[in-house]
Amino acid sequence: MAEHEWMNEIRALVGKEYGRVYAWDKVNAPMIRQWCEVMGVDPARYTAEGAVVAPPAMLQVWCMEGLVPNNYPPGSTTENPYEALGLLEAQGLASVVAVNSELTFGRDVREGERLYYTTRLDSISPEKTTALGTGHFVTLVMTFFSQKPEGDEEVGQLLFRVFKFRPANPVKKPDAAADKAKAAAPAATKRPLPGISDDTRFFWEGARAGKLLIQRCKGCGELRHPPGPVCPSCHSFEWDTVESSGRGTVYSFVVMHYPEVAPFDHPNPIVLVELEEGTRLISQIVCIKPGDVKIGQAVQVEFNSFNDGELVLPQFRPVAATEGVTA
Ligand code: ZN
Repeated sequence: MAEHEWMNEIRALVGKEYGRVYAWDKVNAPMIRQWCEVMGVDPARYTAEGAVVAPPAMLQVWCMEGLVPNNYPPGSTTENPYEALGLLEAQGLASVVAVNSELTFGRDVREGERLYYTTRLDSISPEKTTALGTGHFVTLVMTFFSQKPEGDEEVGQLLFRVFKFRPANPVKKPDAAADKAKAAAPAATKRPLPGISDDTRFFWEGARAGKLLIQRCKGCGELRHPPGPVCPSCHSFEWDTVESSGRGTVYSFVVMHYPEVAPFDHPNPIVLVELEEGTRLISQIVCIKPGDVKIGQAVQVEFNSFNDGELVLPQFRPVAATEGVTA
């Protein structure tokens, strides 16, 4: 398909390099300690030859703007490295979803180094249509450098790819024409199907049989979810399953308001349920107003069928704290 005329201007930007964005602070031990605390890792492991080194995954952190948008240190570029995204937005491709991000590390970054990055617009894909809508994959590559008197040194890269698209089901204001179109609308959008692997097949087959199954290590007996090939405790590859009672409590939740992705109802309450067996799983909560979901709420699994029976999902509904408890 021939591209829209307006894509020429945007495509002309591919390969463009955008100027430096500096770090507010030098690589420093307090920031490393706090980051490790948040991530739940031991900061003591991030030393080399007596010096403090930054966890590699912190690379992007050093040059972040902070709480105030676009608040970068003096000397940073005033160009907008995301200008291609803005131009696509102006053409109605207003929605965005991050697709993938790849960090590449050149070497350890040590306490006292000052970093900056530059950005290159790496590529813009041909027009693609996905379940979300039609648009373009846009790839940006940020290259991180350490400032050195003898010449700046590249220390790593971050590839960041987003899909800029026109939603397949744009949110419209209700009006008579829209209602009429809705009445004449073809089959409803189907629920996305889960990616099923040898490690997870039991879970979906269990759901189809009306059972909520939890993976159990045959080596040490520990339960785990989400399913995986190896026990994180004893590293055994041997496992079987146990059937959950399906009872649990809401450990945490979010209520999704936007984007409104078909076929889900919105607002869409999504819960992290802690089962009474101890494992947690993400699911939807039904039979409750989104505003009424509470942490600690007792819930019970139920199995609901979607896509004309193609998909069975465990979902949860609220119950009185004692309902169904026989012990
Ligand atoms: Zn084990």
